[in-house]
Amino acid sequence: MSAEINNHIPKRHFLKQSFYDLNHSDLETVLNQNDLNRSAAAILFNWHYKKKEEAQCHEKIAKGSLAFFQNNFDFSLPAIETVHESEDRTVKFLFKLKDNHTIETVLIPFHNKYSICLSSQVGCAMNCSFCSTGTQGLTRNLATSEIVGQFLQAWRWLAKNRPGEERILNIVFMGQGEPLHNFDAVKKVCEIFLSKHGTSIGVQKITISTAGYIPGLQRWSREIPGVNLALSLHSAFAEKRNQLMPINMKYPLAAVLAHIDQIPLHKKQFVTYEYILIKDFNDSAADAQKLGTVLAGKSAYINLIPFNSFPGSQYKRPDVDKVEKFKEILDTFKIPTLIRIAKGDDVSAACGQLNSKN
Ligand code: SAH
Repeated sequence: MSAEINNHIPKRHFLKQSFYDLNHSDLETVLNQNDLNRSAAAILFNWHYKKKEEAQCHEKIAKGSLAFFQNNFDFSLPAIETVHESEDRTVKFLFKLKDNHTIETVLIPFHNKYSICLSSQVGCAMNCSFCSTGTQGLTRNLATSEIVGQFLQAWRWLAKNRPGEERILNIVFMGQGEPLHNFDAVKKVCEIFLSKHGTSIGVQKITISTAGYIPGLQRWSREIPGVNLALSLHSAFAEKRNQLMPINMKYPLAAVLAHIDQIPLHKKQFVTYEYILIKDFNDSAADAQKLGTVLAGKSAYINLIPFNSFPGSQYKRPDVDKVEKFKEILDTFKIPTLIRIAKGDDVSAACGQLNSKN
């Protein structure tokens, strides 16, 4: 009899809903439905997200509410399996999820502060020919808690290993996966980060990068207004973009740009267009002219990313002077353009190098 009970304990624990799957209003609803005081929602959010405490909440909270959460919710986070620290202080985490799948997350330093690059899926379905994650295929979407958990665990790692530097000021969905393919979970992650009861991150500090998944762009204005948008563009020529990004055959660039143009921007807000420069493929003067023509007149900001190689990749990075020439042509279109310097490539943490199966 007792063995039978014991057998059930781990199973039940596994099935408990994660606390980190709920936004603030979900928490209030749960409390309400169970005849508990709604005020516990703000206290719990403050404890776990603002103070980032891992242990059971010590704040003044009705005993019944605390017991209810402890009994019915899971407070554990994805486990850090390995950590790689780059010479430039970039940190790459490999997380192990409850079902043993793994994902990667990167902390990118700037002046003792960090941006965090979050994964939204195990693998990715987009199959872009230049991206290491694409070679993995899609295994599954991440739950909200598994995305929020990357942030909380990275923050705690910083607090422990680089005390005083636990300042993650920007959140970018540019890790593994296509965030708009997992819209509901990503939206809830944004709501959790934005909540004034928790981390209280400014909406202008969150950026979602997409390969151009139109069903997600259609939901943007209503459901995640104010969040920054980055589009992986990579070629303004249809045939080349088809070769790089199969999604272009279903959702062609012109239609994607038309949808993006419908998304309202604040006065000083831009859409970031990411453009990987690949040697002798999309790095010519004609490529730059075409890109400039397509983006001219938009509230655009271009990020030029010299290709980052990975084992088995078929492309190469152009020489520095070619990259600069490309930028000079874009300058004639008066589009602000930044050449992104690769960070963390000594530990395979740079854009496109994330592959949790290697
Ligand atoms: N699926 C989303 C987010 C993940 S990729 C998207 O497509 O935007 C994040 C950025 O890294 C994208 O701009 C992507 O195109 C870029 N990237 C992917 N592989 C790369 C590589 N090998 N070198 C440089 N940048 C790469």
